[in-house]
Amino acid sequence: PKPAVRVAVSGAAGAIGYSLLFRIAAGGLLGPDQPVELRLLEVDEALGALEGTVMELQDCAFPLLAGMETGSDARRMFDGVSHALLVGAKPRGPGMERSDLLEVNGRIFGPQGEALNDAASDDVQVTVTGNPANTNCLIAMHAARDIPNERFSALTRLDQNRAVAQLATKTGASVTDIHDVIIWGNHSATQYPDVTHATVHGRAARLEVGDDAWLNDVFTPTVAKRGAAIIEARGASSAASAASATIDHARDWALGTEAMVSMAVPSDGSYGVPEGLVSSFPVTVRDRAWRIVPDLTIDEFSRARIDASVAELASERDAVRALGLI
Ligand code: NDP
Repeated sequence: PKPAVRVAVSGAAGAIGYSLLFRIAAGGLLGPDQPVELRLLEVDEALGALEGTVMELQDCAFPLLAGMETGSDARRMFDGVSHALLVGAKPRGPGMERSDLLEVNGRIFGPQGEALNDAASDDVQVTVTGNPANTNCLIAMHAARDIPNERFSALTRLDQNRAVAQLATKTGASVTDIHDVIIWGNHSATQYPDVTHATVHGRAARLEVGDDAWLNDVFTPTVAKRGAAIIEARGASSAASAASATIDHARDWALGTEAMVSMAVPSDGSYGVPEGLVSSFPVTVRDRAWRIVPDLTIDEFSRARIDASVAELASERDAVRALGLI
């Protein structure tokens, strides 16, 4: 059999972790013939609960699960990992200012970046799901001085999947008939789900939908506010879909995709996004390297929406710089 690949997950005892780990162990991340070893990072207080999840993982008797380790020491958990899925983060509490939120998360993602730098495998790929994901990713990337910046990314695939699902419901098409939906910018309320290049059954999505008012007034806010709608309905946040999107993102990055998918990655200056900002772009992936899809036409409406989200990212970057976190 192939040697096992080590995969680290932080916040492993959380709600997203509870969906994510079973998918990874079943082969959903690296494929049906690749054994995996899980390295599960948690804060000390959650290690007890994590043992319960570990028992369940054992009880699934997954043929591909070659080993598990748990702990609160990032250096030990990141030792030799080729994939790090950073899910654990500090959510905004009541009355918390944005700068407090960025600072608290800086104290998580800075040390984790350093630990990855010291301990991870030379081929490590880092995916940040924990919010504020783009800026947490920026902090970890800066702290990991020797890991190339292009090995860091943050999740906007859930937004893409939500946008595709809305288009499928509206047009009656299957999700596999929908291509080239793009998420630009920050994984926040300012994100821009762009359908100007999207197709449904090979036809421009705008024509296939045939309802500009729906696209402008219903589609975009539905995608942006989907998380809140799910909390309202379930009384708990959207953990399984966030885990599924994390798998989609990291699997496409590991195994490649010809299809255009959205990932938040450090900008090379493409599409007027300042270099170094971790912003969502359309990418394709080959040989474990993403490449921003070049030369798409950006109309005036899209330009304004991209600029607004990128301005928010720049202000988050400035705030973490002022806090000395990057
Ligand atoms: P979840 O597992 O539900 O969420 C974890 C993170 O993912 C949050 O930052 C959350 O952001 C983010 N997220 C991104 N997309 C989504 C989405 N669509 N829906 C919901 N969340 C999304 O949180 P839990 O509180 O259940 O678990 C977090 C775990 O992380 C805890 O066990 C905690 O102990 C751990 N933790 C571990 C750390 C470490 O390993 N060093 C550090 C900090 C925490 P948002 O809050 O905006 O929803």
